[in-house]
Amino acid sequence: MKVPFFDLTAQYHSIKSEIDTAIATVLESGYFIGGNLVSGFERDFALNCGMKHCVGVGNATDGLFLSLKAIGVGPGDEVITPAWSWISSAEVISQVGAKPVFVDVDPHFYTVSIKELKAKVTDKAKAVIVVHLYGQAADIKPIVTLCKDKGLFLIEDCAQAHFTELEGSKAGSFGTCGVFSFYPTKNLGAFGDGGCVTTNDRELAELIRRWANHGGLEKDEHLFEGTNSRLDALQATVLNVKLKYLTKWTNQRIAYAKHYQDRLTGITELVLPAILAKSVHTFHQFVVQANHRDNLKAYLEKQGIQTLIHYPKALPFEPAYQYLHHTEDQFPVSAQLQKSILSLPIYPELSEEQIDYVCEMIRSFYGR
Ligand SMILES: *Cc1c(COP(=O)(O)O)cnc(C)c1O
Repeated sequence: MKVPFFDLTAQYHSIKSEIDTAIATVLESGYFIGGNLVSGFERDFALNCGMKHCVGVGNATDGLFLSLKAIGVGPGDEVITPAWSWISSAEVISQVGAKPVFVDVDPHFYTVSIKELKAKVTDKAKAVIVVHLYGQAADIKPIVTLCKDKGLFLIEDCAQAHFTELEGSKAGSFGTCGVFSFYPTKNLGAFGDGGCVTTNDRELAELIRRWANHGGLEKDEHLFEGTNSRLDALQATVLNVKLKYLTKWTNQRIAYAKHYQDRLTGITELVLPAILAKSVHTFHQFVVQANHRDNLKAYLEKQGIQTLIHYPKALPFEPAYQYLHHTEDQFPVSAQLQKSILSLPIYPELSEEQIDYVCEMIRSFYGR
């Protein structure tokens, strides 16, 4: 049996006629940048996230960059960000001229630990970027309180957390703004790059929109120098179609996560995902910690099962951050995770038989 890590064509085929019609409508309209399809998606996505404003941008990396620009982070400032994440949540800090300050993560939930975070706040700190990783909400309430006390902006990286919830509120609704990615393999994916920023702050939304559009909201208006980062009409129309299915797809991911948990429980060589209390984990990834991880990965590959590692190296140890001279003992959890973490296939178009097969092969690897 073959179990690919993801299968984007399977999702397309499940809604092909709707997608094809929507795309043809854009092509016939001749409207590719801006327009009703983009503003319609922004409105619906904001509504679905319980937010007042949504600004479509070119991708989530740009969304994070533009958020930092709009809140006025620059040279001399520090921004605190997790050591364990995709590089976007760190590289944008340097891109605005500020200094990334890494913080280690919680060993059970893989999101920033409040205790570690508190220790990293200096007089230079201006903002915190929290990442809701793998579909799991960060334990964000104490972080919100800390940011209020210290006068820090709080940006939520929700690239892996569409419809993730904590205590009944969606990810992206706790801080200054939330940034989402619509990269094709994310839980809500376009057919190319795309992203957005959500916020309840009207002025901030407008400023980010200006930043993303050469400093203006209208043609030939340039209040300041900005850049070009927009969600285009073709991607917006694809997202409009897919947004209607997102709850159904998310529920399927959650059901498959439970299926994995039930069948893998009791294997002492594995640490299964922990779910934060009062939260909805949307399982962008199903991540385990595994003894003999590399051998397990190779074994599964031989059985036709594709797995990935998110991430092979924690950010402070990447060549890109050599200039900060970090050592493994400063980020012990991240240093350990990079050796043991493994992502198993999880997406709505998988079959239960495929997941059973993955579990069976993992059991056979450990001789159980
Ligand atoms: C994918 C991802 C991003 C970047 O998204 P793009 O749209 O590809 O720029 C940022 N942060 C995290 C945590 C991600 O997983």
